[in-house]
Amino acid sequence: MSVKYFNGEFVKDSISIDPNDRGYQFGDGIYEVIRVYDGKLFTGIEHFERLLRSAAEIQIKLEQTVDDYMAICERLVAENYIQNGNIYVQVTRGAAVRNHLFPESSEPVTFIYTYDSERPVQGMKEGVKVITTDDIRWLRCDIKSLNLLGNVLNKQKAKEAGGTEAIQLREGIVTEGTSSNAYIVKEGAIYTHPANNLILNGITRQVIKTCAAEMGIPFIEQSFDKDALFAADEIFISSTSIEVTPVNQVDDQPFAVGPVTQKLQQAFEQKISAL
Ligand SMILES: *Cc1c(COP(=O)(O)O)cnc(C)c1O
Repeated sequence: MSVKYFNGEFVKDSISIDPNDRGYQFGDGIYEVIRVYDGKLFTGIEHFERLLRSAAEIQIKLEQTVDDYMAICERLVAENYIQNGNIYVQVTRGAAVRNHLFPESSEPVTFIYTYDSERPVQGMKEGVKVITTDDIRWLRCDIKSLNLLGNVLNKQKAKEAGGTEAIQLREGIVTEGTSSNAYIVKEGAIYTHPANNLILNGITRQVIKTCAAEMGIPFIEQSFDKDALFAADEIFISSTSIEVTPVNQVDDQPFAVGPVTQKLQQAFEQKISAL
């Protein structure tokens, strides 16, 4: 059995969660998913900086620093012999008698575990099918909140339509996927929704922005509508687990895997190799 981190301790046995935990009752918490390549955390610091930001935005006070979290994860990765896998980190506001208001006293509950996971190479090579659908989420998508019902319903809708992801539209504007950021390439430039309250500013998105700058490819943080999506030269999505994944079909329209997407994939690969 693998080692997990739960509330300050490294445990091998199963753990128990209080049914009054606010994560369980309200989705009152935040999370991160971090990638491990060859036993090393990829952009771990950036993920924990974002975790601390998400916590601050919902007023959960955390004692641990980025370095503390990094040390916990490095120990889990080593003890569980993770070579290629993921780390899941979640923090809830803790347990208290059910009441919407923040409890006067509750300790945050932290749970971190690791698991093996191969890179989704087939989708990265051939592309994936996506659907378009209304963005039915709340207005603080910049927080990586445990509240994922809108995301869950839309991803399920994509699956039922034979796709793997849903590109979401708010008032006709493309925001992002349910667990990924969305981009189009038009005349050699990359376009993606600005990092505001309507999207989660992906760490992978930030790596892509750096790669684009290094290669001299314009990276334009400007929103675009559904017509622009369908008129794109290339479309791709990104996240920690799918890296840079081309889109080969949106609803009924096919798209080719294009050269800008492939260049970004190569640049991303180099960032992994440089770990
Ligand atoms: C986590 C997430 C992403 C991707 O973020 P990464 O840091 O690149 O993994 C994009 N959109 C949503 C809604 C997410 O939850």
